[in-house]
Amino acid sequence: QLVLGIETSCDDTGAAVVDAASRTVLGEAIHRQTMVHTLHGGINPPVAKDLHKQHIHSVVTDAMTAAGVQYSDLHAVATTLKPGLAMSLIVGRDYGRDVALQHGLPFIPIHHMEAHTLTVRMIEQVEFPFLCLLVSGGHCMLVLCEDIDRYSRLGSSLDDAPGEAFDKGARTLNLRSLPEFMAMSGGAAIEELARQGDPNCYSLNKSAPLSGYRDCNFSFSGLKENLRHLVEPLEEEHGLDGDTVLPSPTLQNLCASYQHAVFQHIIRRTHRALIYLDTTRAIPDTVQKTLVVSGGVASNKCLREWLQKLCSIEGGYRVVCPPPELCTDNGVMIAWNGAERLLADKGVLRDTQAIRDVDIMHRCPLGEDISQEVASMR
Ligand code: ATP
Ligand code: FE
Repeated sequence: QLVLGIETSCDDTGAAVVDAASRTVLGEAIHRQTMVHTLHGGINPPVAKDLHKQHIHSVVTDAMTAAGVQYSDLHAVATTLKPGLAMSLIVGRDYGRDVALQHGLPFIPIHHMEAHTLTVRMIEQVEFPFLCLLVSGGHCMLVLCEDIDRYSRLGSSLDDAPGEAFDKGARTLNLRSLPEFMAMSGGAAIEELARQGDPNCYSLNKSAPLSGYRDCNFSFSGLKENLRHLVEPLEEEHGLDGDTVLPSPTLQNLCASYQHAVFQHIIRRTHRALIYLDTTRAIPDTVQKTLVVSGGVASNKCLREWLQKLCSIEGGYRVVCPPPELCTDNGVMIAWNGAERLLADKGVLRDTQAIRDVDIMHRCPLGEDISQEVASMR
């Protein structure tokens, strides 16, 4: 059962061919736009759309060639249709739909966040139900994954996502003016610099975000503002014009302290989720308790260590993460999500008219919101 997956929801054009039965990636290709958007100071949707259009054909062709397969060898085409930048999603939708129609293949619409949660199952044995901490550029949530198509959100971000907090923090710190970080995401750059810094040098969350609320929701916009208030006087002190980076070790210490504050918040909310799941016995004893960490921020080694520590203290949970290259957006996760849905025969479109009619959705939260239930737990 070979599935071609296509991803264009944000700023990465990705494609891959996955074999559902053997859980192997036969071929993949990706074109990342990070560099272009970093230079613009953020993602510019029309630019993203144009770049997707320019590259999608070669990315898909490269993935097919790397896999050594023809369209006639495929069993389905899976494509991200929600959520994401509308202009970007349309490019993938059009391309994937045309491939399916042209070659008489079933079409599988993919929810980008569902793909992030399921990726790990291609590599490791992870049974439903499991808890997933989804930390990416556009989302932050704690989700109980009960089946391929059954998700309950214990908590999600009320404002920014952690990846966004890192990207904006990196901009506040002018990291893009350093050539070595130009092609890197804000999160990756901050992780690198944080390694040489002191996480306790600056306090960015004197009062922890949402500490007064008994739910698992997140808030990162305050931390981002606190960073700005810290950086501005430091820049003045060093006589910087706002376009240059602070000297060492101030820069490294700021990165380490900022990363520390972001992760401390994530750990606290995740801890609450673990307690909720234990109290409600949402995960039966017959299933190995697992915390899956996914999304771009999950590629951060420091976060992985913190979560390992939390789970070893809380007991009973193991932490599993996809390899870093599968944490940020890619075609493999879409192809794998398609493979899971094809095997379970869930959400597979075979009718030509239904495939022609598929539409994209800019906003589309994953599953059901149960944050109020979590908040009412004693
Ligand atoms: P979403 O999946 O919510 O639509 P997205 O697809 O833009 O958002 P991903 O590709 O999953 O997000 O992740 C990209 C984000 O991950 C960026 O915001 C980036 O800063 C962050 N990120 C990447 N590497 C790291 C890292 N090592 N540490 C922290 N954050 C990181
Ligand atoms: Fe993503």
